[in-house]
Amino acid sequence: MDIHEYQAKEIFRSYGIPVPEGRVAHSGNQALAVAEELGGDGWVVKAQIHAGGRGKAGGVQLSDSLEAVQQHADRMIGTRLVTKQTGKAGRLVQRVLVEQAHNIDAEYYLGIVIDRNSQRITLIASASGGMNIEELAQISPDKVVHETIDPAVGMQDFQCRKIATKIGLNGKQIITVARMMKQLYRCFRDNDALMLEINPLVRTTEGQFLALDAKMSFDGNALFRQADIIDLRDFDEEDPKEVEASGHDLNYIALDGDVGCIVNGAGLAMATMDAISHYGGRPANFLDVGGGASPEKIANAFRIVLEDPNVKAIMLNIYAGINRCDWIAKGIIKAMGDQRIEVPIVVRLAGTNLEEGRRILEESGLDYIPAERLSDAAKKSVAAAKGTGV
Ligand code: ADP
Ligand code: MG
Repeated sequence: MDIHEYQAKEIFRSYGIPVPEGRVAHSGNQALAVAEELGGDGWVVKAQIHAGGRGKAGGVQLSDSLEAVQQHADRMIGTRLVTKQTGKAGRLVQRVLVEQAHNIDAEYYLGIVIDRNSQRITLIASASGGMNIEELAQISPDKVVHETIDPAVGMQDFQCRKIATKIGLNGKQIITVARMMKQLYRCFRDNDALMLEINPLVRTTEGQFLALDAKMSFDGNALFRQADIIDLRDFDEEDPKEVEASGHDLNYIALDGDVGCIVNGAGLAMATMDAISHYGGRPANFLDVGGGASPEKIANAFRIVLEDPNVKAIMLNIYAGINRCDWIAKGIIKAMGDQRIEVPIVVRLAGTNLEEGRRILEESGLDYIPAERLSDAAKKSVAAAKGTGV
């Protein structure tokens, strides 16, 4: 689960991690009021969306007058901001963060992630702040430094000092940033975060270190014990199909292809997507309907997959172990009876009560394309989506 920059900064504040003074605003007038309250002679208006790359896309505007703050906020709110991370459709800006502008002397990068190789929390830092860290790690890996944290003892002072030294800090700066790293580690661990990123961490011309940007994402499986974090969820930033699917206990992830997938089991769902790609198609989604999918659940799955206007064909791939093919067949009939389905549907059933399932489908008179094996089903779905027949 992702949160907005202003929310991450509030969490940072509660851990004593220094961030610029600022507040969120929902209109130009509110933004003006926030800037007045903050005082000073320079402000930054920052679009709040769950995506980075805002600076280069015009979503972060320095303003040296109150009028400019109001104008920038008015212009941003209600429009869609397209950044490198949003895709072509962009994201609707519903609020902005207005904060004090700072004069920047140096920009650094500081992040905490869970490293899959070591399976440990890892601190990442760089003296080249403000850049895309993945890109930087590819073109100049020597400019990105890492430190793995041992969960038994937590982040140690010497590790923080080592990293701070490696990114070129010295003297008192090392102590200041090392303290910040330890606070960030606590913030990460206490809240079951998966990722925390400050890009850039800046040193101002007055010598102060500040988190100018803040990003956090959290482990969805741990939200049950993070009541304060759940409250920060912004459904407007999520794909409505994914929200609806989770309400029906379906694991759905929207993708950008045109072959809709309805599958039981996460492993089979991934194999299905691989098979579609292998035969030259592109899956429109990942969807695992789970083990004992009832006819209602199958019908819900169809509805959600069909809400995606890009879907040109559906591949239903069920291996019934706990489930039963006759039940699935009834689900398909229910789905096709409940709604107008205008795309071809390829059905591949295997496992328990296969004969009964096939018989029910055949006798229903429904218009579908039967398939025997995974490869056969994938080939037929790709051809159906391309409109080249099967
Ligand atoms: P994004 O990563 O989405 O582009 P950032 O929050 O990193 O957004 O902002 C982009 C750039 O804008 C920063 O690298 C920094 O140079 C500048 N900036 C952001 N906030 C401030 C601020 N409070 N004062 C001065 N400059 C800022
Ligand atoms: Mg940034």
